[in-house]
Amino acid sequence: MPLFDKHGRAITDLRISITDRCNYKCVYCRTGTDGPAYAELSFDEYLRMARLFVGLGITKIRLTGGEPLLRNGLVEFVRKVAKLRTVEGERPDIALTTNGDLLAGLAQPLKDAGLNRVTVSLDAVEPELFARITRVPNGFDNVVAGIRAARRAGLDPVKVNCVLLRGFNEGQIVPLGKFSREEGVIVRFIEFMPLEEDRAWSPEKVVTLKEIVETLSAYRPLVEIPHERSETARKYRFDDGVGEIGIIAPVSMPFCGQCSRVRLTSDGKIRTCLFSVWDHDLYELMRRGATDGECVRFIEDVIAKKEARHHIGEPDFVPASRTMVHIGG
Ligand code: SAM
Repeated sequence: MPLFDKHGRAITDLRISITDRCNYKCVYCRTGTDGPAYAELSFDEYLRMARLFVGLGITKIRLTGGEPLLRNGLVEFVRKVAKLRTVEGERPDIALTTNGDLLAGLAQPLKDAGLNRVTVSLDAVEPELFARITRVPNGFDNVVAGIRAARRAGLDPVKVNCVLLRGFNEGQIVPLGKFSREEGVIVRFIEFMPLEEDRAWSPEKVVTLKEIVETLSAYRPLVEIPHERSETARKYRFDDGVGEIGIIAPVSMPFCGQCSRVRLTSDGKIRTCLFSVWDHDLYELMRRGATDGECVRFIEDVIAKKEARHHIGEPDFVPASRTMVHIGG
């Protein structure tokens, strides 16, 4: 029996941020000068939280950050998460979101430990533009090596996330479409959301699903393929069946009605929406010695109150109480 919120949505996906440190300073995410802002818990503390959530019906766990590969001990943590069992008695599906910089050396050990899938962020396939976006020199080759190592390790399907910023990298739509075809990965374009540290978002900077589809279709016809109801991405193939594209359009085509997610921040707070204006301190409860039963009741109460939807672009929009790097994307 999954967890339900008061809007009737089943909550099955947990995202755990294990650090808000990051070795990249992507222009649409960070200021370039600010560093980490929140504590990290021990892996045993995240594991206890994950166990409680899985006992409540969570079936998918995604590890994220900040940059999760910066945390020593990650492989061992994945091994322990893989030993959890869902309500149905199965292993949870374990995924990881990373910038890929350190992935080449970790893909196989992570796979061996029980990681199922990986998503790598790559916002340009031109090394110089990539360096301007990440504000780190010479990262591109590491990331491509990481993507290839993930494929070799069988962390399938390897997904590549690209955030498009108008006037910056929308010229990368077709090159990334080609990258999907050449590298055998699913490329997913994500609309830019107002979750960046320097509050530079404006509707004009968002490259929308419609524009992405039009640009790719002019290169090669696209065919839409069915997606699961809870999946956030619209999915497409090129007409010859080579390459797969996903488009995540939280701004132009919100999917809040199908949201199945809950997040844990690196310092152990529950967030029920990326755009929440408050969070819920599970770690503090645990620190004060709460029993598993007390924590479970707390989690159920918090989930019940999950927000109906975000208000991006509306006059009553209130910025989230944390930005993406400090939440865990
Ligand atoms: N460091 C990892 C990475 O680079 O993928 C994981 C954390 S990162 C915050 C997770 C995802 O959030 C990335 O795919 C990133 O592109 C995306 N992201 C960050 N800021 C965003 C924004 N303002 N709008 C949309 N997506 C954003």
